Amino acid sequence: MILIRMLTLLAIGYGIYRLVRHFRTRPQERLTTPGSTRPLVRCSRCDTLIPPENALIRGDRLFCSEKCRTAS
Ligand SMILES: [Zn+2]
Repeated sequence: MILIRMLTLLAIGYGIYRLVRHFRTRPQERLTTPGSTRPLVRCSRCDTLIPPENALIRGDRLFCSEKCRTAS
C-alpha cells in the first residue's frame, strides 16, 4: 500500500516536473539554440541543408544562397 502511494506521488511529481520544464525551457530553446532540433530545408540547386529562416525563396523552391537562386 505504501509502495503504491509512493509510486503515485512519484508519478505526480514527475508530471509536475515535466510540465514546469516544458513551459520554462521551450521558449528559451527556441531563442538560444536555433536550428538544433528544427527541421532543415534542402536547397533546390546544391542540396545543402539550411534552416528555413535562412532560405531564399523563388516560386515554390528554396535556395541556400543568392548565388544558387539566381543560377537556377
Ligand atoms: Zn544551394
